[in-house]
Amino acid sequence: MTKRSLSVIVPVYNEAVGIKSFLERQLFPVLVRLQYKVEVLVIDDGSTDGSLKKINEVKAPRGITLRIVAFTKNFGKEVALTAGLKYAKADAVIMLDADGQHPVSAIPKMIKKWEKGAMIVTAVNNGNSTRHKVASKMFYLVMRAMGNQSIHEGAMDFRLLDRVVVDEYNDFSEHNRIARGLIDWLGFPQEYIKVSTLKRTSGKPTYSRKKLARLALDSFVSMSSAPLTLFGRLGIFITVTSFIFGLFILVQQYILGDPLGLDWSGAVAMSVFVSFLVGLVLVSQAITALYISRIHAETKNRPLYVIDRKKSKNLRERKNVKS
Ligand code: UDP
Ligand code: MG
Repeated sequence: MTKRSLSVIVPVYNEAVGIKSFLERQLFPVLVRLQYKVEVLVIDDGSTDGSLKKINEVKAPRGITLRIVAFTKNFGKEVALTAGLKYAKADAVIMLDADGQHPVSAIPKMIKKWEKGAMIVTAVNNGNSTRHKVASKMFYLVMRAMGNQSIHEGAMDFRLLDRVVVDEYNDFSEHNRIARGLIDWLGFPQEYIKVSTLKRTSGKPTYSRKKLARLALDSFVSMSSAPLTLFGRLGIFITVTSFIFGLFILVQQYILGDPLGLDWSGAVAMSVFVSFLVGLVLVSQAITALYISRIHAETKNRPLYVIDRKKSKNLRERKNVKS
């Protein structure tokens, strides 16, 4: 069998304390045992704690090439993954976190599945120790309710992608991206393996609550237009109901002379409706604004990231070989 190749992409943001030992003691030992030509692409996402220096000190064993993509500033993990996928050259690409939370011991299992023909192998958290557990449950609940049936609960950013999938992914040009959402969207069949997330080996998670909330919101807006149709339907429902209600008041009070003895003043009904509708208009306007702001961001069409060529190492962009 010809030795096939494997790329491993690792986004890094302020992981100076643990990155060296993660690569040398956890990741590399697993990778050298595989019968593959391996490149490890570390994307330094504008770390400010000297992570890049630590990465440069890392010694890769024989058979593993270490490549470094250094961003000029922090562009965020999703963008770091995108850059990694762009520069990865191998037949299969694995993405995983630099903090030791994604168990490297699962890599051989992923490769096995890929060798048997899987296009995408996704690690799924078996339920323990997720941060923001309630929030994440809510997220999946809402996503499902909005019609994203395919979204797999607990699916992580720890994945293996076949070259074919990576090439398709590299064709995306949108700016607001959630890697897993886009990968799911491509529609290739996925296989899942259950893993337990580990504790961070060092440092602090850099995804603050605020960042996570933004990620969730981005997922809603980028992967679904359900909010728009939802509010459209609600609007129609309310208009129809209020029309019927208004008709009822008109007939029973003014035409039939209040046979039910309700003695409503028109102002009561009016003010209830007006305030209700005003609230509705405000919410739907907010949603619309969300979409417009994204259209705005896309039309600016800025480059997604900027690479510091001097600080980067061993880089050559892979020519998209898709015909
Ligand atoms: N990360 C990154 N850019 C960022 C934030 C995080 O590249 O702006 C990296 C980080 O170094 C780690 C991975 O993304 O390798 C996951 O980050 P973190 O552990 O903070 O998030 P969580 O474990 O909560 O998903
Ligand atoms: Mg983490």
